[in-house]
Amino acid sequence: MSLPWLRPLWQSIAHDHQQGTLAHAHCLPWQPDLGTQALVEEWLRLLLCTAGEKRACGKCKSCLLHRAGNHPDYYELGSDDGRVISVDQVRELLAKLQHTPNQAGAKVVWLKDAEKLSVTAANALLKTLEEPTTATYFIVTPERTERLLPTLRSRMQLQRLQAPTLSEVEHWLAQRLQRMLTADEQRQCQRYFQRPLALLEWLKDGNFPRDYLAELSTCMTTEAAFPQPSKTDWLAWLDATEQWLQELVRVQQGVAQEQLRLPQQQSAHQHWLTRHAVGVSALSEWAHLCYAIRQQTAEQSGLNGPLLLHGLWMRWR
Ligand SMILES: [Zn+2]
Repeated sequence: MSLPWLRPLWQSIAHDHQQGTLAHAHCLPWQPDLGTQALVEEWLRLLLCTAGEKRACGKCKSCLLHRAGNHPDYYELGSDDGRVISVDQVRELLAKLQHTPNQAGAKVVWLKDAEKLSVTAANALLKTLEEPTTATYFIVTPERTERLLPTLRSRMQLQRLQAPTLSEVEHWLAQRLQRMLTADEQRQCQRYFQRPLALLEWLKDGNFPRDYLAELSTCMTTEAAFPQPSKTDWLAWLDATEQWLQELVRVQQGVAQEQLRLPQQQSAHQHWLTRHAVGVSALSEWAHLCYAIRQQTAEQSGLNGPLLLHGLWMRWR
């Protein structure tokens, strides 16, 4: 496993597999920036390999078939263009699983976009997940585990991806880029270390996403004109507003500078808090207002999100 933060999880999977105690159905969240795909692909290879080692041998007939993309005992099911996964699609899959495996190894299903299963499709799966045919494994990757039916969730072993630490990511990036990180790159690393795979791509091409939090902080502390949130980016500004309030709480509580999201803004934030005589209770009240805007606009159509957010900012001037 080339991603160091996934190694503990991977090692426990490989260990259970070798001991013959690996559960038959697993659910793990689809987190592309953390490496779900790399983990799942390595896992599929291990399950299909017939060598019975700690990792796929890459040489047995089963490994070769899988690499060529035509292993007869490997099945994928997912949503087409965000459409619902129907009960017919699930029944078709279950019928195929009734056959004895073509190769000597296991039958393996990768069920993607599981939150798109219709209720009847999910129900059709329940019995198989509970009592799968021999040597059949399901790997289920919904975007959000909590969106699955509880009855479905409870029949699977829930796996969680461990987020990496900052120093783990810095070390990994330096290895991948084969050089030290610049001071600017280290700052980006502080911001994005919980999205290491995206961060690596941004570092490679030198393009980083717009930093709404830093822009908002500058506006607030310099009394520059407010940004103009649009219908397409106002939710990013709302996220930034919540992050900014959390940052103010950290500053208010005297958190160490290296634990701040915007360490270079620490004294400007302190100054702002003093000038506006703002304490932690006011900050949490404001955070609640952000939450209320998020809720209201999600529940009622026709509300003007950008305007509501702008109104909130105006209260803090
Ligand atoms: Zn093999």
